[in-house]
Amino acid sequence: MGSGESVKKHYRDSVLARKIILGMVLCSSIITLLLTCAQLYKQYIKDIDQLSQSEQIIRESMLHSLSESVWEYDDKLIKLQLKGMLSHPYIEHATLVLADGQEYSAGKINSDFVNTYEFDINHQQNDNQALLGSLFVYADLTEIYEELVSSAATTLLANAIKTFGVVMFMLFLMDRLIGRHLIHTMDYLKAIETVTEPKTLSLERPNNHVTDDMDELAETINAMQRRIYEAHQQLMTEMQARAKLQEQLLDQNQQLAQLDRVFTMGEMATSLAHELNQPLASITGFADICKRLINQPEINQPMVEKTLEKVSSEAMRASEIIRRTREFVRNRSPQRESIELQPLLIESVSMLQDMANKKQVSVNCLAASSAVWVEVDKVQLQQVLINLVRNAIEAVQSSQKGKVELAYHHDDSEVAITVIDNGPGLSQKVLDNLFQPFITTKENGMGVGLSICHSIIEAHGGRMQVENQDQGGACFTIVLPNLEQQSGDA
Ligand code: ADP
Repeated sequence: MGSGESVKKHYRDSVLARKIILGMVLCSSIITLLLTCAQLYKQYIKDIDQLSQSEQIIRESMLHSLSESVWEYDDKLIKLQLKGMLSHPYIEHATLVLADGQEYSAGKINSDFVNTYEFDINHQQNDNQALLGSLFVYADLTEIYEELVSSAATTLLANAIKTFGVVMFMLFLMDRLIGRHLIHTMDYLKAIETVTEPKTLSLERPNNHVTDDMDELAETINAMQRRIYEAHQQLMTEMQARAKLQEQLLDQNQQLAQLDRVFTMGEMATSLAHELNQPLASITGFADICKRLINQPEINQPMVEKTLEKVSSEAMRASEIIRRTREFVRNRSPQRESIELQPLLIESVSMLQDMANKKQVSVNCLAASSAVWVEVDKVQLQQVLINLVRNAIEAVQSSQKGKVELAYHHDDSEVAITVIDNGPGLSQKVLDNLFQPFITTKENGMGVGLSICHSIIEAHGGRMQVENQDQGGACFTIVLPNLEQQSGDA
């Protein structure tokens, strides 16, 4: 009962129901008006016809006897004849005005709607015709108009009652057959969820009813709902599989990047040994000095302390090299932090300095006018820089005066790091398959360096560009979002 009431309430509020009611009332009113007008016109023509008949009877059968009565000065008969005229439909008053000014009249008229007919009263004697006077006959049209108005009112009222009855009945029918099912269907559609098993839309129908359009609509919605649910389920399964694949891909990328770092470090082993050799040699030297100082008869305490400080500082340097190397090859998950660019560039170059010296390539790192900070995984960006600088050193090694230059600049939204060399530039094979793995022109190359660099930079929300310069040599540009600036703005 409660739900029935709510359906009815909703249905009354429905714009569609209002539109249908308005349309039906309008259409019915126009048809009623047209039919009423036609009916009234027919009645009016009939009344006017009757009036014309009265006029014709007076003209054809009463005028002659009246002229005889006037000729014979028969007052009594004249009055009787005038009275007789009033018996004709709508004739309410008659006045006879004789040539000598004498007047006779019968009946009375008080209406504003009057039709007047004028007749000459002539008398024929031999060939002469004498004008005896004029007869004025007045017809009262009030009755005709009143009849028309009453007939119109009755017809309109009857039609209004009929229209009201029809509209109410149609409203009831629409509610029973369509409206309540539509509202039920809308409530059902509003409650649809793609994630759960769909419920079947079932309309409230009496048993053994004849199937109609509403049942077909419900069936279509049920079928559609099932298709949507199945498609959604399939999509969810595909998305989960894709997410899993992406996770695996990320994992493999990380493993590949780590392998690349180990491989790079392996290639730089001699360079590393050389780098470590320097502080170790210094430590040995300073240790010898210390030994000599403490073997002297008078120990120079400040000198011993100073030398020991140098031992300690060189040991720190050696341990820093080992820490840096371990950090570089360690298998770890990426972590972003805000770091200053210049020291990172210098550290990366220093790891390749020995290799560059051996190949007689000068590697320069140009500093920007102000400090630039980036939000990156330090080891990953270092890996990219080492890959690019190492490739550049290898590319220019055979040329005279080999030169590699690192520079960086920034604007409000981006930081760009460039690695430029004066080697032969990139071969067509590399350019055609830019950043594809396993593309190499080197005898012992793996061809994964550039593709790893590319994926690392993309994972940082940046991009990598490569071009051969007009004057020769390759130019690699790493573009990263300037997060410092952006967070500063916010
Ligand atoms: P690999 O160094 O193992 O070959 P990379 O992906 O690092 O793998 O490099 C792919 C290829 O790109 C190299 O073999 C080389 O031909 C080319 N290349 C990379 N950097 C330069 C450069 N600065 N100048 C010329 N060619 C380059």
